Amino acid sequence: MVMGLPSSVLIVGGGVFGLSTALSLSKRYPECRITLVEAASTIPNPHGSSVDTSRIVRADYANAAYAKLAATAIERWRGTDWGREGRYTQAGLLLVYPESSASAKEYARKSYENVRDIEGDKVVFLPTKRDILGVVPSYGETLDVAGGYVNWGSGWSDAEASVKYAKECLDRDGKVVFRTGEVERVIFEDRGAKPRATGVSLKDGSRIEADLVVLATGAWTPRLVDLRGKAVATGQAIAYIKISDEEQKELENLPTILNFATGIFIIPPRGNLLKIARHAFGYRNPTTVPVPGVAQTGETMQVSLPETDVPVPLEGEEAFRAALRQLLPRFVDRPFAGTRICWYTDTPNGDFIISYHPSYEGLFMATGGSGHGYKFFPVLGDKIVDAMEGTLDPELRALWEWTEATVPGPDASDLFYGDGSRSGERNSNLKDELAKTRKSTRGSAL
Ligand SMILES: Cc1cc2nc3c(=O)[nH]c(=O)nc-3n(C[C@H](O)[C@H](O)[C@H](O)COP(=O)(O)OP(=O)(O)OC[C@H]3O[C@@H](n4cnc5c(N)ncnc54)[C@H](O)[C@@H]3O)c2cc1C
Repeated sequence: MVMGLPSSVLIVGGGVFGLSTALSLSKRYPECRITLVEAASTIPNPHGSSVDTSRIVRADYANAAYAKLAATAIERWRGTDWGREGRYTQAGLLLVYPESSASAKEYARKSYENVRDIEGDKVVFLPTKRDILGVVPSYGETLDVAGGYVNWGSGWSDAEASVKYAKECLDRDGKVVFRTGEVERVIFEDRGAKPRATGVSLKDGSRIEADLVVLATGAWTPRLVDLRGKAVATGQAIAYIKISDEEQKELENLPTILNFATGIFIIPPRGNLLKIARHAFGYRNPTTVPVPGVAQTGETMQVSLPETDVPVPLEGEEAFRAALRQLLPRFVDRPFAGTRICWYTDTPNGDFIISYHPSYEGLFMATGGSGHGYKFFPVLGDKIVDAMEGTLDPELRALWEWTEATVPGPDASDLFYGDGSRSGERNSNLKDELAKTRKSTRGSAL
């Protein structure tokens, strides 16, 4: 034991949750033996949810606890090495809602009140479309919004560069041992009431032992522990549009625009690439896998798991075209330079799961990012280590702790209410949508 924590810790997963845990743990417990195992051959992992051209960094939350934590993270993005060398750009966030969506308006109202308390005059209420066009004239008269607000204290971060930065910090400190390999399962020792996790076995047959196993495996976690009713992988659509040097100059300093009614957001371009994405209920990808646990019983379950290297289905592309028609009509017919499905690890209310597993000893969960975990990168590891020690602020513990009362059951797989910020269909199936896309493409070629 090193002062309350076990002397060897194995972190599985090298995204925001895993790397931030490794950074904080190695600082606070220099004697601890820490290993981080990642399935991808590189960190940054291009298929990981933490890696992309950009991620929004905002304290604009309807929930005050997240708003406060995000404000602390933003201080570090602004004032420390985290945000340097282009990793953080503070160009503002414009949150808009159309006439038709009462829930989007309500989210914006609560979020406005929370960030006004934090950022004061940097937050400006924009009660009409005319006020909004005053902030983003390039978006033009077709903009279909009723109101919103702008927060000049928010920004965005280069997500690939920041993951690379975190990895470089860890390499420089040299306290964490990195291994490449895909964990096939957690190994348990069955002794009495609560089985204990003693390590993991990898796909190549080797094993890594540790006193504490931390699963920071993002959207892939439902393969390693039974998360039915607790978390689900949902695929979210992203597309990139190539733009000219002049267009880059015109758009690069605009605030990010986020419409909570459609979930569509556009982050200002970098390197002549404009990103449009959708924060929605997302696609499910039901996959049959063995039920994880102490014994290999041969029992299987169906859970949604990530499918990488597939394009955005036609339905998603059409939603982007419709949004561009309203926001930036000049790009409506421009072909996408690329599209990608990025995977959220969604929990029923959008709260993270940062907690010991209630049914096993020696197993800690650091996941459930629910599409909003990235911005916390500079502070998340500290909170995760607080939760390991049992010193996490009660407010956050109440949001993130997994208690016996919420151990999932097999019938609970569809629970998902969200935090009020999602749009679109609730149970859209990725493979069905891709099949429809193929059919329609074949149809148009005939
Ligand atoms: C499209 C999209 C847009 C987003 N936008 C924002 C935003 O604007 N602002 C914001 O704050 N957040 C945003 N998020 C959310 C944020 O990016 C995520 O919450 C966060 O990156 C999740 O980090 P993670 O470490 O859990 O997952 P990941 O980065 O996916 O890391 C998990 C890692 O575990 C590895 N792994 C999985 N299984 C195994 C195994 N069996 N063995 C070994 N390794 C394994 C994977 O290879 C992966 O590298 C967005 C997410 C997406 C997908």
